[in-house]
Amino acid sequence: MTSARQSYELPAPVAEGAQGEPIRNLADILRQRRGISDDVVALKGSDFSETYRELDTRSSQLAHALRADGIEPGDRIAIFSANNQYFMEIVFAAAKIGAIAAPINTRLSEKEVLALMGTCEPKVLFVGEAEKAAAPAQDAVPGLARLLDAQSYEEYIAGQPTDDPGYEATPDEVAVLLFSSGTTGLPKGIQLTGRNFSTNLADKIPGDDYDGPRVAMAPVPFFHVTGLTSALGSMNKGSTLILRLPTGIADLMSLLIDEKVTHAVGVPTIIQMLTQLPEAKDADWSHLKQFGYGGAPMPLPVIYAAHEVLGCELVQGYGLTETCAAVTALWPDDHRPKPGRERQVGSVGKALPGVEIKIVDPATKQEVPVGERGEVYVRGSRVTPGYWNRPEEDAKAFSEDGWFATGDGGSLDEEGYLYLHDRIKDMIVTGAENVYPAEVESTLSGHPGIAEVAVIGVPSEKWGESPYAVAVRRPGAQVTAEEIIDWSREQIAHYKCPVGVTFVDVLPRNPNGKLLKRVLREQFSDLAAPV
Ligand code: AMP
Repeated sequence: MTSARQSYELPAPVAEGAQGEPIRNLADILRQRRGISDDVVALKGSDFSETYRELDTRSSQLAHALRADGIEPGDRIAIFSANNQYFMEIVFAAAKIGAIAAPINTRLSEKEVLALMGTCEPKVLFVGEAEKAAAPAQDAVPGLARLLDAQSYEEYIAGQPTDDPGYEATPDEVAVLLFSSGTTGLPKGIQLTGRNFSTNLADKIPGDDYDGPRVAMAPVPFFHVTGLTSALGSMNKGSTLILRLPTGIADLMSLLIDEKVTHAVGVPTIIQMLTQLPEAKDADWSHLKQFGYGGAPMPLPVIYAAHEVLGCELVQGYGLTETCAAVTALWPDDHRPKPGRERQVGSVGKALPGVEIKIVDPATKQEVPVGERGEVYVRGSRVTPGYWNRPEEDAKAFSEDGWFATGDGGSLDEEGYLYLHDRIKDMIVTGAENVYPAEVESTLSGHPGIAEVAVIGVPSEKWGESPYAVAVRRPGAQVTAEEIIDWSREQIAHYKCPVGVTFVDVLPRNPNGKLLKRVLREQFSDLAAPV
């Protein structure tokens, strides 16, 4: 572990549970709900529902079964399953005996799952019904003492005591191991502690005085930090969490309306599509208080539409798995900007309590002045103590005094609003200058002959690296590389201009339409700047 927590300048916020006591570990969430919401439905799926009492007793039964099986504090319990009651029971059972829940991305192939098993070395693995095909056999995972599915799970916990085994994890014990959605190499295990989660749960939305029954919905997998923290936040507030995943946007609207959801989480495009449904305008949305989102900036027209059609408040969060979800938030008031303050809506908001943010020049590692771009560094009690058994990755990502390098490019304004730019590894360093591809791309897109364009760095004998454009011509356009380069020199500084342009028919994108710079760099790995 590389982070030096003692040097943090801000105190670590601690969440309160239902009984007003501090949340030190995940088990405290359920412990403090006892006697308060026992008969409230905690989890509701399409074919089951489970109350807080059931979640508490079944997770205690599982905890006893695991203990009897020799599971000790720090042992890993892997979960390879869609969102369901077993998933949350395992997370709480692990917390009640100090074990570590290790959720695995269900979209991974059998080979990838096996590789992850080698990393986290679980003693127990739970596999959901739909995930059985990609799950490894028990003897393929060294040290795996037990492989459970829904049926054997029921047999495993049957007859076990229903009282809480009562393990009191300290805030710095690891509660959950999540794996980064890394696109290259083996995903890294990210350790998240009770303190990380407690800080996350402590967040209070300014102006949110709603104290009626809460129905939450976050159609995001629990193996992702957004899904898990949303679920835990929902449990800490005694909400009913709707688990059925919608099949499409019309189905999402029916779910939100039929279940009278009060707190929803999604991405901006979901909110946009909802507001554009013709039937949405006349629907009764009065139950919907708040829509949280992240992952992309929110266009102003979508904000206005959400306020008008859905009538709810909006909250944006920015964060990473390594920071246990959000480190900044754009609050409801920021989404209702007074004239002249529309710019902030394009930001990801301000640092949450307990979070320090600075912007660092990736080359010099020095903090840059307000307004200048660089890499976003984060410090505070939300940040992981480190990767699982990867000291070389810790050394790359964490500084001695506890700053975590996010890899995101960004800038802060004078009021502390954070604006995100390119991922830092997409940044081009030419000579001593940093070039942000997004800026060059937005300039080049203004050329009438260009339909779309991506800018990458290519090796340059003289400058180390130089910007290079890969462009798609507009239908019928005859524009040449030289014309584009000459034109760009009239728009932006010479060092930012592409040294070459290659025309292609399409740019590589992922299914969500996100440009795949990594693929582009691989495709054009033999390019170099002209000498
Ligand atoms: P993950 O660790 O898989 O959750 O991915 C974290 C990454 O998602 C961050 O490093 C950002 O690049 C991106 N991200 C998260 N929140 C936002 C946001 N509100 N706006 C834009 N990008 C975001």
